[in-house]
Amino acid sequence: MELKIAIQKSGRLHEGSMQLLKECGINISNGNNQLRVKASGFPLEVFFLRDDDIPEYVQDAVADIGFAGQNVVAEKNKSVLIAEPLGFGKCRLSIAVPKNGNILSVQQLNNKRIATSYPYILSEYLQKQNINASIHEISGSAEIAPKIGLADAICDLVSSGSTLFSNELEELETILQSEAVLISTKRLSEEKQELLAKLLFRIRAVKKATNNKYVLLNAPNDRLPVICNLLPGMRSPTVLPLAEPGWSSVHSVISESDFWNIIEQLKNAGAQGILIVPIEKMIV
Ligand code: ATP
Ligand code: ZN
Repeated sequence: MELKIAIQKSGRLHEGSMQLLKECGINISNGNNQLRVKASGFPLEVFFLRDDDIPEYVQDAVADIGFAGQNVVAEKNKSVLIAEPLGFGKCRLSIAVPKNGNILSVQQLNNKRIATSYPYILSEYLQKQNINASIHEISGSAEIAPKIGLADAICDLVSSGSTLFSNELEELETILQSEAVLISTKRLSEEKQELLAKLLFRIRAVKKATNNKYVLLNAPNDRLPVICNLLPGMRSPTVLPLAEPGWSSVHSVISESDFWNIIEQLKNAGAQGILIVPIEKMIV
């Protein structure tokens, strides 16, 4: 019994998908550029597909699960379950307009033409906003559409915004925040549900580790109460005596997002020799 997973064959989600599986202890060798490969380290069979096709394959249970962008999952509107956000492939779907043009608000899109490869998400959005615009569906990059007179605005994926910038466009409104997610078919056998639970356990341990750091520092004993207060850790910080009397070593875990803030406060509280170390897996 194997779980069948669909991932992107090549493109922006390929590396992140392979990397996450690898960190979960799952190895996939696809030297021969095959469409299906059996993994080692977990009962998994991997299908390499175009990202656009993944929701449908999962809906139809050709693949049991898949990794795809929320943008694609929302656009394809297939009947699948979203089991877990994966923390990579982050981007947003935005409406953008020519810089210094005459469209300054979303309402001014009325009776305008918008080029996009996300007609479903865009039409849902426009309907909600009560805007009557015409949608020009295109398959490739939308950013040249205003320049060649094909459209007045575009609706496309943005990450840094540099593509918009170099095409003299600016974001008017973000309509969807996206990252890669694990989707699953609604028709999973009980056995496969158990396999999926095991895989999710590994994925969560990896994600948790990525979002946290291990911190080690030295402190004079009289500063320990203040420092331990700043470092709640998983349960509470570990405090070990140093060879030098009156000093201790403190070990704990802090979240990536808090870390610069806390480091500053730790230094001010008298911590010295602070080390921040990556964590490989974390199970709480
Ligand atoms: P395919 O050949 O599989 O159809 P594609 O050209 O449609 O590939 P990519 O450009 O590889 O797609 O993007 C795949 C997904 O990566 C997007 O659907 C989105 O979820 C995510 N993505 C898109 N742009 C970015 C970006 N700039 N940064 C990070 N992730 C992105
Ligand atoms: Zn695609």
